[in-house]
Amino acid sequence: MFDLSGKVAVVTGGNGGIGLGMARGLASAGATVVIAARNLKKSQAAVAELVSHGASASAILVDVTQEASISALFAETLERCGRLDILFNNAGTNIRHPAHELGLAEWHTVIDTNLTSAFMCAKAAYPTFKRGGGGKIVNIGSMMSIFGASFAPAYAASKGGIVQLTRSLASAWASDNIQANAILPGWIDTDLTRSAREQVPGLHENVLRRTPAARWGVINDLSGIAVFLASAASDFITGAAIPVDGGYSIQG
Ligand code: NDP
Repeated sequence: MFDLSGKVAVVTGGNGGIGLGMARGLASAGATVVIAARNLKKSQAAVAELVSHGASASAILVDVTQEASISALFAETLERCGRLDILFNNAGTNIRHPAHELGLAEWHTVIDTNLTSAFMCAKAAYPTFKRGGGGKIVNIGSMMSIFGASFAPAYAASKGGIVQLTRSLASAWASDNIQANAILPGWIDTDLTRSAREQVPGLHENVLRRTPAARWGVINDLSGIAVFLASAASDFITGAAIPVDGGYSIQG
């Protein structure tokens, strides 16, 4: 039920952090994993790690804010791997200023990287999924898909949008046997949140106090849900937004 042998998965931003945690899960379940990000050296290191554990993996350069780059990613994936079954829209960024201090260019950078990219990648993958008889799309939201963020309005808007985009894709493409779901990670220790801890006073302590599990997540906490949402085990689940947060979202 969880076997991904013979399947090909693209993970944007898969060269580190949460993307790498999910890529590890997919690879361990037998998928061929395409690590798609801008920093090719970092992507090649991620591929080397997966391959050293017996997986099949490949690095492809992409800038998810550029439509032409996305088209090239999917063309190259089909050329190298011969098929495409699974798409993880994980690439993301944040620029932390309250709304009155956030520039328009900063707003666009965050929305383009986190939200518009997911739309463009899903659209680029769709014809291949349809031709192949189905597919899995997994979009990465956040606790800011649920809660507001005084210090990161563009990020919160992008992550709220990810949930509604996921539901829209799920309902539009259900008849094509494509399932689209979102993962809402809690506070996970990555480069992104390491910078947040430096920039937002008291964040570290607040996360520990408010998370019932009383710890930050680690990237491998995302491996299992990635396999579940990429596999036949979740074939009747679509349009869902699933927190993976140590209980952060259920406690006030
Ligand atoms: P990282 O900074 O470790 O990972 C971000 C990834 O996105 C990198 O691999 C980066 O690769 C890639 N990326 C950024 N911009 C682009 C771009 N324009 N084109 C292609 N790839 C890009 O952070 P996380 O692992 O924490 O974040 C991963 C996802 O998880 C993001 O969507 C984030 O919002 C989300 N998330 C994280 C949480 C956390 O607590 N850490 C909580 C909730 C959600 P490269 O620089 O090589 O392009």
